[in-house]
Parts: sequence; structure tokens; C-alpha cells
Amino acid sequence: MAKSAELICVGTELLMGQIVNTHGQFIAQALARQGISHYHQEVVGDNLGRLTAAIRQALGRSDMVILSGGLGPTQDDLTKEAVAAAVGVPLQLRQEVWDGIVARFSRRGLEPTPNNRRQAELPVGAEPIRNPNGTAPGVLYELPPDARQVIVCLPGPPNELRPMVADFLEPYLDRWAGDERQVLMSRVLRICGIGESAVEHRIQDIMAAAHNPTVAPYAKPGEVQLRLTVRADSPAAAAAALAPLEAMVRERLDPHVYGVDEQTLEGAVGALLRSSGRSLALAESCTGGLLGGRITDVPGASDYFVFGAVTYSNRAKMQVLGVPEADIAAHGAVSAEVAKAMAEGARRVGGADIGVSVTGVAGPGGGSEAKPVGTVWLGLATPEGTWAKQTLWPGLRADIRWRATQEALVWLRSYLLFGAKAGE
Ligand code: ATP
Repeated sequence: MAKSAELICVGTELLMGQIVNTHGQFIAQALARQGISHYHQEVVGDNLGRLTAAIRQALGRSDMVILSGGLGPTQDDLTKEAVAAAVGVPLQLRQEVWDGIVARFSRRGLEPTPNNRRQAELPVGAEPIRNPNGTAPGVLYELPPDARQVIVCLPGPPNELRPMVADFLEPYLDRWAGDERQVLMSRVLRICGIGESAVEHRIQDIMAAAHNPTVAPYAKPGEVQLRLTVRADSPAAAAAALAPLEAMVRERLDPHVYGVDEQTLEGAVGALLRSSGRSLALAESCTGGLLGGRITDVPGASDYFVFGAVTYSNRAKMQVLGVPEADIAAHGAVSAEVAKAMAEGARRVGGADIGVSVTGVAGPGGGSEAKPVGTVWLGLATPEGTWAKQTLWPGLRADIRWRATQEALVWLRSYLLFGAKAGE
């Protein structure tokens, strides 16, 4: 059985939504790295009774209880009191901790207040954890008689907690867990051009049958991610358990899986352009260069990206890309005709194999009944033909612009894989 740890983040400001609980994610990642089971996370306000009860409950089901925050000098910093109450020991001033606090203040020409003495008090039997970045030390309490259970208190400020996790907690977890841990390995499959429910429909039998490894879908703007996670005794065993599941899922979702883990769609498209020896030019209106930004985020994009124009005004569309004035007059700048003319213009001016264009209404103003906010036309000009397609997503300006770049990349990928069929 792997050892287990749970986390209690202390602070009324967390419960009130004034700050985001980033420690939850940070510490969970450290536990996953160490192969320690982590089944519970909780946020508790600055209240002695509720915090004490939460610690007792956590000790009833986990080998380690990690607390963050509430180690400060003020009356609402109650974490150590609650730990002492939960395990039934008093707090005691630790002279060496107090001496350290006095020295820290005097280095800055200051004297600690009597309140700071609270920071030198530890539950009897606990040890301080060095905190070079703040006044309050962390607390390590290994529960007698055999230290099978442990309580760790970490300071709230991120610039104190993060180094303490790296320098103390992770090495401690490594020793503490010993052999009693399992490797937790995840692989994220990144999927485009198909919605979350369609993905789920295609693999629902696999998902239902998979317990270790498990399969969990996440919908992201313009893509779906499937996280395959396995618990195993060794990295080799974990990889061996993930591989057949991944192969099965890929087979069902083909050709929509464009990458794994940190791979990006623009990276996948770039790799296809490079391997097929084709070059790309862009003409952007409502995305204002966002698509070109994504394309050129990929190192080595100069191998295939040759030209990009941000033509926001009608005049620029006509002068730079040669969009016919009559098309704009007859159909408007957000139309199939203009998207096609922009893509062809980019292809011609850039001397590229493929031209891609984006023109749309990103909002919040500028929408009409015929072309509501979120209407975007994409154009694709290739040696085999030129096509346009319309998309419409609800959302705020930033979402619409991002989504437009995403759909343009999905369409381009599909053309690079399937040729003219993707346009029709
Ligand atoms: P201090 O000596 O500053 O009082 P402390 O250990 O008592 O330190 P808290 O008062 O609980 O810590 O938190 C201090 C600050 O740390 C908070 O105002 C907040 O900015 C940040 N913080 C605390 N907990 C979290 C958390 N779970 N996620 C992100 N930030 C946090």
C-alpha cells in the first residue's frame, strides 16, 4: 500500500475567494511526483475549532497531513495551536527558534514584537523546519510512538512555501515513503477537430473498463485532452501499462490525436508543413497576428512560414492582399468571398504553397443579426483550390480570437493530412 498524504490549506481569505488556492496544485504535484496517494484536499478558515476537527479527521484516514498557512504572528494564525489540540500536546517556546527570530530582526535593525514569540512556539515533540525566506519556521511533527503518521505545517506566503517544499518536503517525502509508494504516471493525448462528447462516445467502453490505468477527458477551448493515468510499482511497469491503452484510444480517435503531453497544435502543424516541404502565408484580420504568433512560437518556423499580414482595415485588405473592392462592397469584410480573396492574396504575395486567412467579428461590438459576434470566416488557398468556411462560437473577444486561430490550425492540419478533401 502506498503511503497517503492529505492537504489542509488554512485561511479565511481562501474561503472568501480573495486569493486562489495555488498551494493546492503545487503540493499535489509534489505528492504525485513522489508517488504518494493523495485523496483529500480541504480549505479551512482561521477558526480553531474547525481546524482542529479537520486535522483530527485527516489523521483518521491519511498517513501524512500537510497544512499550509496560519503560521504568522497574529491572533488569527492558529495552525500550530490546532495541531497541538488535535494531537493533545501543549505549545512550548523553543529558545533556539526565538533566538533565530531575534537575530533575523536585528540584522534589519529591528526588534521583534511580543507577538512574534508565538512564532517560536511549537507543539511539544515537534521540530522546526528552516525557513530562510521568512520569520516563521515550518513544523514537522512525527507522531509517537513510531512516527508512522506525520504532520507538516508550511508557511502561507508562496515565496516561503515553495522553497520549503523543494528543499525540505520533497526530500523528506522521498525518505518517508521509501518503498511504500507507487509510480503515478500520466500521459495526456491532445485531440482536435472533434468535440468532447463525440470523443467520449467513441471510447466510452474503454473508459468504463479502465480502472488502472484510468482515462479522463478534459474539454479545453477548441480541443479535448484525454489524461491516461496509471499507478504502478516502477516507471517501466507504468509505461508498459499505458502503452496498450494509448494504442487502443488512438485507434478509435484517429486522425484526431495530434500530440501528447506538452506538444502543441501549432507544433504539430509545423511538423507536417516541414515534412511535406510546403510553405505557409497568413492574412489575419480579427485575430490581429495571433495566428502568426502561434505559428512562430514554434522554434524553426522559418523553415515553412514565409509571410503574414495583419490587414485590419478594408483598405489594407485591398492594397496589401488585392481583395476586390466589389467583394467587400457586396458581401462585407466578414464573408466567404473576402476570406478566400485574403487567403489567395497571402499565398500570392508571400509566394507560399498555402495561404490561410481569418476574418471575423470578435466583439463585443460590431455584430449584426446576419453576422453576430463570434462569426468568423476562414480561408484556405492551395494549389488544388481555394475554400472558405464559417464558424460561430459564443464567448468573449479573447475566446473568439483564440478559437479562430485554433480552428484555422485544425483546418490546415486536416488539409496537410488529407489534401483537397479537407476543403470540400
Ligand atoms: P504570515 O506570516 O504572512 O501571516 P502565514 O504562514 O500565517 O504567514 P497566511 O497568513 O495564511 O500565512 O498567508 C499569507 C499569504 O500567503 C496570504 O495572504 C496569501 O497571499 C498567501 N497564501 C496563503 N495560503 C495560500 C494558498 N493556499 N494559495 C495561495 N496563496 C496562499
